[in-house]
Amino acid sequence: MNEQIESLDVLIVGAGISGLGMCYNLKKKRSHTSFAVIEGRENIGGTWDLFKYPGIRSDSDMYTFAYSFKPWTEKEYIGSAERINNYLNELVRDENLDHYIRFQQKVTAANWDSSQNHWLVTVTRHDGSDYKIAAKFLSCCSGYYNYEQGYLPKFEGYDDYQGTMAHPQHWPEDLDYSGKRVIVIGSGATAVTVVPAMAKKAAHVTMVQRSPSYIFSRPASDVLFRILSRILPAGITNRIMRAKYATLQQLSFVLSKRFPDFMRSLVRSMNKKDLAGAADVDVHFKPNYKPWDQRMALVPDADLFNSVRSGKTTIVTDHIERFTETGILMKSGEKIDADIIVPATGLDVQLWGKMNLTVDGNPVVGNTLTNYKGMMFSQVPNFVWVFGYTNASWTLKAELTYGYVCRLLEHMEQNGYQSVHPHQEPNAKRVRMLDLQSGYVERALDRIPSQGSEFPWCNKDLYLKDVFAIKHSKLVDDVLRFDDNDSLADFHKPSPERSTHTSELKSELTSKKVDPHSVQNGTSSQTKTNKKVKPKPKQSSIA
Ligand SMILES: Cc1cc2nc3c(=O)[nH]c(=O)nc-3n(C[C@H](O)[C@H](O)[C@H](O)COP(=O)(O)OP(=O)(O)OC[C@H]3O[C@@H](n4cnc5c(N)ncnc54)[C@H](O)[C@@H]3O)c2cc1C
Repeated sequence: MNEQIESLDVLIVGAGISGLGMCYNLKKKRSHTSFAVIEGRENIGGTWDLFKYPGIRSDSDMYTFAYSFKPWTEKEYIGSAERINNYLNELVRDENLDHYIRFQQKVTAANWDSSQNHWLVTVTRHDGSDYKIAAKFLSCCSGYYNYEQGYLPKFEGYDDYQGTMAHPQHWPEDLDYSGKRVIVIGSGATAVTVVPAMAKKAAHVTMVQRSPSYIFSRPASDVLFRILSRILPAGITNRIMRAKYATLQQLSFVLSKRFPDFMRSLVRSMNKKDLAGAADVDVHFKPNYKPWDQRMALVPDADLFNSVRSGKTTIVTDHIERFTETGILMKSGEKIDADIIVPATGLDVQLWGKMNLTVDGNPVVGNTLTNYKGMMFSQVPNFVWVFGYTNASWTLKAELTYGYVCRLLEHMEQNGYQSVHPHQEPNAKRVRMLDLQSGYVERALDRIPSQGSEFPWCNKDLYLKDVFAIKHSKLVDDVLRFDDNDSLADFHKPSPERSTHTSELKSELTSKKVDPHSVQNGTSSQTKTNKKVKPKPKQSSIA
């Protein structure tokens, strides 16, 4: 008996902040478009529902991280995960978006069929059974990391440690750390969040970092917002706040790139003032890379620095020699004992929610693709990946992408087109897509797509520029090809030339100057993640 296949205009993968925004935009702007959202977990929210570690919060301002169509109305401009989840749940409830979402189902495969002009998508239910959807357009809002495992470097003597290991991505919510000695390994956004939060109850927290990061403090609430929200309607206040923060984010990035020494000394003087001699800035807060070569970490109201000043937190900057039964032995010979170790060692980057993507039966290989306008990929038809900024709020870019997708669908409908793809000529110049040198990016370099050297293939991650390049520019250009599927299968067919090109690119990418300390040695020992945490960490709802 033939299986009945459901047909949809658009299939959205993921109900995190990106997928919900796409869902809202399609509902509002394209009411006649049929669509559904497939979500692997049992809740909406993605990142903000998954992570449960103490203090979990945004490090972007919420005025630009929240959607433009739903103003953030709280005076705290940093949002806790709980508040972000409430905000997203409110959107779903008020706009009846739950009607579109299918929970506990995962998109496991999608094949573009050029003869039918659709993606034949395999959706796997919680019980392991499959069904198919024929979707004209695929909007991938799956985030960028592996939900099932965080990254855990190989630590010498890891098995010897007899205390509790708690990975931030699999936080045991009933873990009682009151009065306990804690080590947090890492210096990124997660570490600087979890350290002061745990120090409130723990006996003591030691933050162990291999090399320092740029960390700066800002007041937790915004004076301008407090004034404006008393005298102006919420919508106008929101516009002003978004303009303020979008400009500040961009200014900080551009100044860092143009005048790194100036930004270095600015952050250094802020750190000196906040620490008031409690820790040596030159040892613990002087990174050996330029500002914004890795993401800069924000701490609200100097909470990390205050914790160091109070004596509840100590920072140790050194390499780990090995784990011991009772804690960690540093290369310097220093021994640090702990009841709990928190490896805030990062994420495992994953493309497209682990979907097995094929075009006319040929595998779509991430590192052979070139990103178009930070949204689509060379020779991948009717496909968009919602991927936000790494140097500004994720959602600013996500919103530009929603607008673009709606315009593109409208254009195709008006002209009767069935397919569209950005077409790249063979041997066009390709460079790395993400200019960050953070560990999780470096570890994934040989898997992720590239970008081109010129517009529209290059993506500078500059919001104000993108507003013109994506929102106000002409949709049709020399690159987009409509109803032209002939070359797709050939492009994706595995071939020796393609792998040569890929390995050349890989050596070009990896020969770029990289802070050696930003990349952890060894490979992730996935089976060891959280092995000592009880109860067992909550994992993605579909195995
Ligand atoms: C701890 C942490 C803090 C962060 N803080 C900030 C910040 O302050 N500012 C900022 O701009 N960015 C921040 N980021 C980046 C952050 O991930 C994004 O801002 C944003 O939350 C991403 O939203 P998303 O919906 O694209 O992806 P996610 O939040 O990752 O959601 C993806 C959803 O897709 C689902 N999914 C994935 N694959 C499939 C599949 N195959 N089938 C079905 N469903 C699938 C997942 O279950 C999940 O619900 C942070 C990231 C982390 C990890």
